[in-house]
Amino acid sequence: MAVAKKIYEKMTGPGASVIRKMFEEGAALKKQYGEDKVFDFSIGNPDLEPVTKIEDEIANVAKDRTKGRHGYMPNAGYIEARTAMAEKTNLEQHLNGKPGSGVGEKLNADYIVMSCGAAGALNTVFKAILNEGDEVLVPVPYFVEYGHYVHNHGGTLKTISATEDLSVNVKEVASMLNPKTTAIIINSPNNPSGKIYTKENMRALVTVLNAHGEKTGRLPYIILDEPYRAICYNGKKPVSMFHLYSESIVVTSFAKNLSLAGERIGYIAVNPTCQDAASLVNACIFSTRILGYVNAPAFFQKVVAKSWNTNVNYISYENRMKHITEAVTGAGIEYIEPEGAFYLFCKVPPKKNVANPYDDFAFCDHLKKYNILVAPGTGFGCPGFFRISYCVSEKTILNCALPLKKAVQEW
Ligand code: PLP
Repeated sequence: MAVAKKIYEKMTGPGASVIRKMFEEGAALKKQYGEDKVFDFSIGNPDLEPVTKIEDEIANVAKDRTKGRHGYMPNAGYIEARTAMAEKTNLEQHLNGKPGSGVGEKLNADYIVMSCGAAGALNTVFKAILNEGDEVLVPVPYFVEYGHYVHNHGGTLKTISATEDLSVNVKEVASMLNPKTTAIIINSPNNPSGKIYTKENMRALVTVLNAHGEKTGRLPYIILDEPYRAICYNGKKPVSMFHLYSESIVVTSFAKNLSLAGERIGYIAVNPTCQDAASLVNACIFSTRILGYVNAPAFFQKVVAKSWNTNVNYISYENRMKHITEAVTGAGIEYIEPEGAFYLFCKVPPKKNVANPYDDFAFCDHLKKYNILVAPGTGFGCPGFFRISYCVSEKTILNCALPLKKAVQEW
């Protein structure tokens, strides 16, 4: 056998990435029918071009002739990049307290580790915190790769079932906490639902975690996966958790907000109030190294150090959100009201006279006949749903309205 059994099972089993498969099928369909005849809503690849300020900064970094600019660096990343990310974190988390002052204290570059995207950041953190058999909780629906990332480092992903409004089911969290619970992932705005968890919901979660900590002496981490933090609608914003919970860690990237997905640039920010924060940061630095990332890409560390606070207008995503919700409503499909990111999570319309009227795989296959590609909800832990990634051209969305309606009528 050429490949490891564990990997073979993962890559061919039910956890294999349905979305990537769809993406590849989309590429094949586009070749066959032409780009404009395929409605590919399969993957969250931002289609906004990076704004001029980013392109200018890329040009500036390219012109730099400083000796050693392509060389190794400290594994945590360049000091100027980490200082910039600390400033960004202080703003986003509303931190202004003096170092050492406890909850709400400002962080500095010492609490930042640059990473290869949010995916690299997640793997680094899991490597740093998980012992064999440890558990990581995640509310449903969730980003499909989490299971693999946790498994990569000997852990098990445990899902928390969805509530009606897709908020975190805190009661269930309380019943699941045990000595092996090491972390809970909070992804807000959420992929695939576009949901932003409310402050009340997050406060309730923190209360339950703190009570568990008091009882057992072990506080699980909250890992805040925030690549969509900047992309929010109607004035909503994700909750700043560093104030609310001592054991919190941000993992994020510039893949979505600055449209730099392929450049693999992101970072980890550790709340200075974490128990033994310095040791946690060191474990992340060590893990970055031994996972073989060594460090985040040098070139783009320099780019984001200068351009992280560039203003990007997400109105075009908001417009597309309006168009896609109209198209979906017109087809008679129910959906979760999106508050951020660029995904619409929809309910499979019931099919008559079949054993499973809400079969998401069957519905996604059915849509393929109309050249519409969407991702089945099962991949996100939510059978009976499907995800539309609407970071595609407005034209694609508008032109899809009729075929979508027809597809539902013929379902
Ligand atoms: N987390 C979530 C919720 C995502 O949707 C994605 C990518 O789609 C990632 C993490 C990985 O992001 P990156 O491309 O920065 O590694």
